[in-house]
Parts: sequence; C-alpha cells; structure tokens
Amino acid sequence: MMKEKINIAWLKRDLRISDNLVLDACERDCYPYLIIYIFDSDIIKADNISKRHLQFIYHSIKDMNSQLNKYNRSVKILYGSSTKILKEYLNSYDVKNIFAYQESGIKETYVRDIKIKKLSREFNTNFKEFEKDCVERGIKNRSGWDSRWFKKMNEDITKNIFTLNTFEDTINIFEPPKSFINDISCYPQEYVKPGYKNAIETLTSFLDNRSQNYNKHLSKPLESRKSCSRISPYLSWGNISSKQVYHFLKNHKKTKGIPGFLTRLKWRSHFIQKFESEHQISYRCANKVFEKMKYTNDSSIIDKWKNGATGFPLVDANMICLKKTGWINFRMRAMLVSIFSYQFDCNWKLGARHLAELFLDYETGIHYSQFQMQSGTTGINTIRMYNPIKQSNDHDPNGVFIKKWIPELRNIPVEYIHEPWNMPPLINTLSQDSIYNNPCVNIVESGKAARTKIWSFKASKEVKNENKRILHLHVRNNIRRA
Ligand SMILES: Cc1cc2nc3c(=O)[nH]c(=O)nc-3n(C[C@H](O)[C@H](O)[C@H](O)COP(=O)(O)OP(=O)(O)OC[C@H]3O[C@@H](n4cnc5c(N)ncnc54)[C@H](O)[C@@H]3O)c2cc1C
Repeated sequence: MMKEKINIAWLKRDLRISDNLVLDACERDCYPYLIIYIFDSDIIKADNISKRHLQFIYHSIKDMNSQLNKYNRSVKILYGSSTKILKEYLNSYDVKNIFAYQESGIKETYVRDIKIKKLSREFNTNFKEFEKDCVERGIKNRSGWDSRWFKKMNEDITKNIFTLNTFEDTINIFEPPKSFINDISCYPQEYVKPGYKNAIETLTSFLDNRSQNYNKHLSKPLESRKSCSRISPYLSWGNISSKQVYHFLKNHKKTKGIPGFLTRLKWRSHFIQKFESEHQISYRCANKVFEKMKYTNDSSIIDKWKNGATGFPLVDANMICLKKTGWINFRMRAMLVSIFSYQFDCNWKLGARHLAELFLDYETGIHYSQFQMQSGTTGINTIRMYNPIKQSNDHDPNGVFIKKWIPELRNIPVEYIHEPWNMPPLINTLSQDSIYNNPCVNIVESGKAARTKIWSFKASKEVKNENKRILHLHVRNNIRRA
C-alpha cells in the first residue's frame, strides 16, 4: 500500500503561530502536515530542565491549540524518545519534510538533533532547520554579525496563514502518561502566564507606562518587577520571536527606556551566538586555563545558598523570591552568582544547574555565558564582585523586598535590615542561633581573599594567551547600539 505523503512541523522553542517559519513552510508546501511537540524523555530528565519549564511549555501549547482549533488543527503532544517517535512516523508515512528551528541548547538537544538528521537521511526525508533569532550556525568569527542582525531584524515578519486541515494522524502510541500531564497542567499563579496574547499584553503595558522607569529601576529587586519588560520567558520558549518584539518596539524609541531595552534584545542573540559558536562553555570554563582554579566548594554553604539560608538578607530574599516566582532581575542574578563563586569560593559548575532550573526564562546560551562572566572564568571580562550588603543598601534601602520574602526579618529596624547581626542585644529580637545573627561567611574577609585569588590568576601569562583565542572567536568589531 502506498504510504501517505506528509510533512511534519516539529516545534521546540518556537511555541507560537505567528512569525513561525516552520508552520509557514508546511503551509506553502503541497502535502498535508502534522504539527508535533515532543516531551522527550531524555530531555525531561536532563540537568537544567525543571517542572516549571514543562508547565510553561504545556500551557503555551494549549494556548496555540485554542487558536488553531478553527482550522481543525492542533499541536499534537507526544511523549518518549524523539528518535523513536520520528522513526515511527517515517516508517508509517512517506514524510517528505521535517521542518524545525535550530536550537542552541543543552547537550541532550544537540545529540537529539544529530540523530534526527541521520535518521532523515536514511529515509530520504528532507530535514530543514531554520535559523532562530539571528543566531548563525557554523560561523568562524563575528565579522559582520551586528549588521546582519539589524538587517534580519528589519525584515518583514512572517504572516502565518492556515488552511483547513483534513488529514488525520492514526499513530496513537506516544501519548503522554496521564500522571505526567496532571503534573504539569497545574500552573502557579506566581509565574507569568504563557501564550502569545499574554506576551503582547506584557509588551503593551511595558510600552504604555512600565518602561518609563526602566533605566532607573533595572537593578532594584522590587521595582524592577514592574519596570523591566518581563518578556524573557516568552522569548525563551518562543511564544513571541525576537523579531516580533523588535518590530513592536522599534518605532517607539522616544519612550524612555526603549533604546536600552532594544540593546538588551540584541545582547540576547549575541550571548546565544556565543554559545552556538562554543557550546563547551556549558561544562568547561570559557577560558580553559580557569579549569585549574581551586575552590573550597563547601557543601554546607552550597546548600545554604540553594535554600536561601546564607544569612545575607538580600541574597536569601532573592533566592526565595526566585523559587516562588521564576524571575529576578539581571543584577540580582549576577549578585547570586558572584557571591557563590567569589565570597563563598565555589566552582560555578556546582551552582549553574540550580539557577537554570529556577529561571522560568532559562535559555542555555544566555545562562552559561552570563554565569561564567559573573564567576570571572571568561578571562576577558572585567571582574565584578558584588558585595551583598552594598547592593542591599543601594537597591533595597528600606528592606521592603527583603521583608516581603523573609518573614523572620519583618520586625527588624530598617537601620539593621542589611546587616541584622550588628543589632545591639537589647533590640535584637532574632533567636540567638538565627542565620541572620550568624551569616555563613565573613563577607569582608572572604571578599578580600577572593579578590587576591582571582586577580593573581587572571594576570597569568597562560590566561592572557587563551584570551586571544576567545577574542578572535567571539568579539565583534564596530558594535552599533540597537
Ligand atoms: C547568571 C545569569 C543568568 C541568566 N540567565 C538567563 C536565562 O537563562 N535566560 C534569559 O532570558 N536571561 C538570562 N539572564 C539575563 C537577564 O537577567 C534576563 O534576560 C532578564 O533579567 C530578563 O528580564 P526582562 O525580560 O524583564 O529583561 P529586560 O531588561 O526587559 O530585557 C529585554 C530582553 O533582553 C534580553 N536580555 C536582557 N538582559 C540580558 C542580558 N544580560 N544578556 C542577554 N540577554 C538579555 C532578554 O531576552 C530580555 O527579555 C541571565 C543573567 C545572569 C546574570
């Protein structure tokens, strides 16, 4: 019997039905098509992927399906090994094309995509991967990258149209287990709500009023929750493309905050590009010489950091808030990494996974590039060691954010909120063994030791030689602001 000819739209981090080249390619071709999302059992189990990510994905798909319903289409959710699933489809149908976006992701997604490429060749199926968010595959250096970014960003947005579907897929052996769906179908109200409509509402409110204080509040743990765009999870899971965001905002550069925002949108592609060009930075130091750096790696301090129980109020408040909501601002992320790597003297590799799993907007390329920058292991970036007490005084002067997330500190007088251990005994209402009477390190001494260690290491000839390789691969000339 002749197998039915079909195409497959394989969605990954592109969970939207507008400006979607994968869906557009399917519509333009002459064959019926199936839209699939695979909860890959290997990837679900992988480091860095957590329940909150799966929840965001699941609800993004539900949102897509509510829009696709009128075309008798839906994203079919599949569960299992991607290779096994796609092999079954290639066996059962005459699959002409598998369309997907490139993914600059974790090791498991990289291995998966290589296997699918090989499998497609075996079946004589065309596996077409589209470039995502201006991140280029296979480039040897960054010459001309910035101007290409602008050119691509200014190209027209793909206007997806959908015909009425008549094709019915008969393969039903890869349905996700009920327990899995039950587990991810609840959605905590503290997380931003997935879906294109919510992404647009977020951008609109940012443009209309929230962006006014963007520059002023960017680093403030409390105020940034309103004044930052909060678009990151939508971009990370592809509810909206970078280009859609760029087009939405570029005509409003006069609004305060928007130019700075657009610059960061370009950083997004820049950091993912860095990772695409050197994916090894997810498991080894960007400057390889830093692999020789020795750390104390005190497991009890690592646990305290992970649990928001270090005794440093702003550090703990951020970790607790992140656990609950999935988002903290850039500077607070940088501070968490900085204290982990410098004052707590821990290898960045022992902390990166923890934060990846907590960030609702987890994006491998940005995460590892930034984590290493804030840990000082890139060799080429300025060392930024954040003192959590200074950050606290500067960005949460009245301790409002701290008190919101650490009930134990709610009655502490403002003048002691940043360093409760300095409270005179007469007014100290904390229990004697409270972590806020006994922070886990002496921040002044540990900071001094960390500075000596990192600066002497960074000055070595070996580090400087390795920096030359990094600069050649990643550094751009003639950078223009977005
Ligand atoms: C250790 C560490 C890990 C990080 N991990 C991630 C991550 O996994 N995913 C992620 O999206 N961002 C990450 N960031 C970058 C940044 O903190 C977030 O993008 C930002 O806080 C998201 O909030 P927003 O959307 O309101 O940002 P806005 O300030 O409104 O910026 C708009 C967009 O620009 C991009 N952007 C902003 N800052 C940066 C930056 N420094 N580098 C690259 N792109 C940027 C994001 O896509 C963001 O949504 C990390 C930063 C650090 C220090």
